[in-house]
Amino acid sequence: MFKDDNINERNVLYNLEPIGVGTDQIESLTSYIARLSKEHNIKVSKLFNNLIFPVFKEGNITGATGKGWSKRSSSINGNGKSNNGLTKVLILFTGRKDLELLSLNLFSNLINNGKELKLKKAWCPSCLRQHERNMEPIYERLIWNFEHVEICPIHHCFLETKCPNSNCRRELPVLSGEVPLGICHWCKCKLSTAIPRGRLGRKRQVQTLIIKEIGSLLVLNREQRKNLNQVQTAALIQDIFVKVKINFGINDGLFTNYVGVSSNTVCGWKKGQVPALITLIKLSYCINSNLIDLFFKKISIDNIRRFPFYFLTQIRPRNRRLVRKHIKMNLAKIMNSPYFGKFSLEETAKKIGYKNGATLKDQFPLESKKIISAHKEFKRKKFENKIEVLKHRMKESIIELLASGIEPTRYRVIQKLSLSFFREEYNDLYDKVYKELLNKDTPNNEQ
Ligand SMILES: [Zn+2]
Ligand SMILES: [Zn+2]
Repeated sequence: MFKDDNINERNVLYNLEPIGVGTDQIESLTSYIARLSKEHNIKVSKLFNNLIFPVFKEGNITGATGKGWSKRSSSINGNGKSNNGLTKVLILFTGRKDLELLSLNLFSNLINNGKELKLKKAWCPSCLRQHERNMEPIYERLIWNFEHVEICPIHHCFLETKCPNSNCRRELPVLSGEVPLGICHWCKCKLSTAIPRGRLGRKRQVQTLIIKEIGSLLVLNREQRKNLNQVQTAALIQDIFVKVKINFGINDGLFTNYVGVSSNTVCGWKKGQVPALITLIKLSYCINSNLIDLFFKKISIDNIRRFPFYFLTQIRPRNRRLVRKHIKMNLAKIMNSPYFGKFSLEETAKKIGYKNGATLKDQFPLESKKIISAHKEFKRKKFENKIEVLKHRMKESIIELLASGIEPTRYRVIQKLSLSFFREEYNDLYDKVYKELLNKDTPNNEQ
């Protein structure tokens, strides 16, 4: 089937129907590709190498020719170059026009080139288990991929982002070249075995809002998405600021407080930057509206309200570059502080906002090396100091005992200092101090 000579024919691949079109549970393009490969009984990597790469003239899907594409596969669900090219190729091969709906493809003006998407796989274990139980094909939802979506819209549990196998616990590429859906890319364990975490606490309300708004975009059909995509969001936002000023006498500076964005961000919009999706959600909340009405300009702004502060605190920062900048600043602070060396790589990572030392090492390898060696040196000095202090105390004890006419045996000295008899180093230290002080070896009688 994959011979070069029939590659340009239509329907090289099965006309597999995408799942959930027209609902907020619509399948992602990466999920579709994985299912398509399964239907043809081949690995995703083979589908790419044998069929897609040879005709994908833009050459570098997800920024690389062939190798390493899985690592960057999150962009397949976005609306950049790799998504565009891949969508076209797949439509050609399967004859299915609706594949445009499985990514942000038709939202290129509204949503900033896939930057709204997570870089790694996220999934609901309950959804996967449900498919397994009902013997349905396993599929992954596009909505799980949005950076700010943290829970499953159906089961209201947190989406998982790490392999459930306690020996693995790794993050997974959005699309694996080697394993089918529902399986860990690294250890091959079942992703449905994760125990759903359901204590949402304060996250519930803000997540419900985010899911409802993003879901309202995902249910749209091709025509509706295209219409929506005509909107110039920057102009739209400026219009809202003007109306707020006229209707309520609230100026830009104050209204940014209502929305919870910085005035810098507003400046960016005025220069034509595409606002983040989460900002548009916040903004529509503040004018008592919703995304769809906002985009179709069906808003009257007869009431404004503040975006609740505790909502803001439950939203993770989106801009990874900014986050990295922030982390870099914190890292520099720690490295220039007098306490540099006091903290291990693990502790430093947590202090500056990473989850663990491995991530820090990954992101800042040079700095991490310095942190590790400085901490080693710190620990060595600390140990030397401790031994020095102990030596001093031992000397004093021996002298005290001698002064009272008691033989300073190992047992007596170590007991006097409330140390453990089982630590080899204390015994050795005693021998050393005794010899230094009395210029003879320690007595053998141990009482
Ligand atoms: Zn679910
Ligand atoms: Zn695993």
